[in-house]
Amino acid sequence: MFQVQIVFVTQSLICHLTVGGNMTAKKWVIGNWKLQGSLASNRGLIECIRARLPVLDERVGMAVSPVFPYLPQVADLIKGSGIDLGAQNLSEQVKGAYTGEVAGTMLKDVGVKFVIVGHSERRAYQGEDDELIARKVRSALDAGLVPVLCVGETRDEREAGETWAILLRQLNAVFDLIDSSKDDIVLAYEPRWAIGTGVSATPEMIADVHGFLRTYLVARHVEFGARTPILYGGSMNGANAATIAIIPDVDGGLIGSAALKADEFVSIYDALRAAA
Ligand code: PEP
Repeated sequence: MFQVQIVFVTQSLICHLTVGGNMTAKKWVIGNWKLQGSLASNRGLIECIRARLPVLDERVGMAVSPVFPYLPQVADLIKGSGIDLGAQNLSEQVKGAYTGEVAGTMLKDVGVKFVIVGHSERRAYQGEDDELIARKVRSALDAGLVPVLCVGETRDEREAGETWAILLRQLNAVFDLIDSSKDDIVLAYEPRWAIGTGVSATPEMIADVHGFLRTYLVARHVEFGARTPILYGGSMNGANAATIAIIPDVDGGLIGSAALKADEFVSIYDALRAAA
């Protein structure tokens, strides 16, 4: 029985929601390789993943996101595997005098399906703000890509009790530029303090935030809320994946360091498959 109950607590979108039933059609494990890789190591990694996982489960997708120069190489290596290609960034511009930028249409041209937008490392080190991230999400959608929108709080923000306000600010900036009746995105909850630290958020924290994010999405558009995968990211690995995979409203993982080890990455995939 499908049951939806929304109680608005503020005039904005902090609300409580209970949704029964299978929320999303497909789960995803998406690797973010960051500034790592070489022709040789990319080949070795993809060959190992393919050897350990000759066939993907249709209920659980997999994608890998190398740095720009290796996209064509990796596109070639994953041919016929069912693995999809992701990129780690794009320009909000379409073309022109923007030295060093890469447009969404160009990513699409070389076979990219997903593009990570709003990653905390880009927010922190490249100074990307909510408005720029929103424009990048719109550019990705206009190019026919699926943006993987990352949101999440810092340790200080969590300790100050600001987690919900930060998430709402990050989401609202972007969702004003999204047509939730037709656009497809992937949302990733990535608490900044859990990224690359070896310490993931607790299952309780993940359940709370993912429930909150689902509520937000459904309040925007019921069907959009149901079809949008919400991934967890932040020190997810082969050891904790089974625990995280069964948390309600966790539809997969955005994986950093564990995505560079075939065994770990496939273990995470297997955990999602077992929970599907
Ligand atoms: C990430 O960078 O998106 C990430 C989740 O990294 P890690 O898994 O290494 O914490």
